[in-house]
Amino acid sequence: MLAEGVGTAVGLAALGVSARWNWWRPHACGMPILMYHKVGTPPEGSRLKKLWVSNDEFRWQMGYLKRHNYAPVTMRHVAESINGGPPLPARAVALTFDDGYQNNLENAFPILNEFGFLATIYIVVNAVGRDNFWHDPATETRLPMLSWDEAISLAKAGWDIGSHTLNHSRLTRLLLADVEKELADSRQILGEKIGALPVSFAHPYGDGADNGDIRRLIQKAGYRTACSVHRGLADVATATFCLKRIFVRGDDTRWDFHLNLTRGQSRL
Ligand SMILES: [Zn+2]
Repeated sequence: MLAEGVGTAVGLAALGVSARWNWWRPHACGMPILMYHKVGTPPEGSRLKKLWVSNDEFRWQMGYLKRHNYAPVTMRHVAESINGGPPLPARAVALTFDDGYQNNLENAFPILNEFGFLATIYIVVNAVGRDNFWHDPATETRLPMLSWDEAISLAKAGWDIGSHTLNHSRLTRLLLADVEKELADSRQILGEKIGALPVSFAHPYGDGADNGDIRRLIQKAGYRTACSVHRGLADVATATFCLKRIFVRGDDTRWDFHLNLTRGQSRL
């Protein structure tokens, strides 16, 4: 009886684990593009804790990439490789940061420097030197964003500066003329301020990544890649303007991180 009870308990535990983690999924093809938002300790009052990865976990994750011989590249490298430039290294991975938080410079940048890794940061142009004005203050406290000088210092260090629109807009809710402005004006302003026109774009909320009209405007504006928030490993050659990403959540375990990189997603 006892053995049977233990057997049932083990069986149920195995089922529970399999319903939460994708360990049974085969290894997937494609390039991991990791999506981060905020690195550090969430301030009191932050309800969006899954968007925060602690410094310690972030350092562990970079160590994982190093130990497993991943080669971080920027999304500009990805664009160049697609457009006849040098091919991407084996085990290429891209580290991307959405929105342009100052904590990316303060916390993530020094850790990446320890490893010699570069990243791509998608900036909300009208938030530079200001705060995350698009968030509901009831769910996320006001956080400082990069200043232009800080964004320039990241670019000088080799980071790729991409656009995340002017206003963190949901593009499908705008008239196409306004979408065009969000795409083209943000690119032009970033080009003037940073000194190099961006080639990388990320959709706020992933919104509009599947919309053909918006995709055409992204290409027309001069971007060479666009990231969605669809989960999985990216097929950079054929889905260049709707790239899947791996959302690295603050409540992920280290096993999640491993499954994300090898299976494209850890959760069902
Ligand atoms: Zn965003």
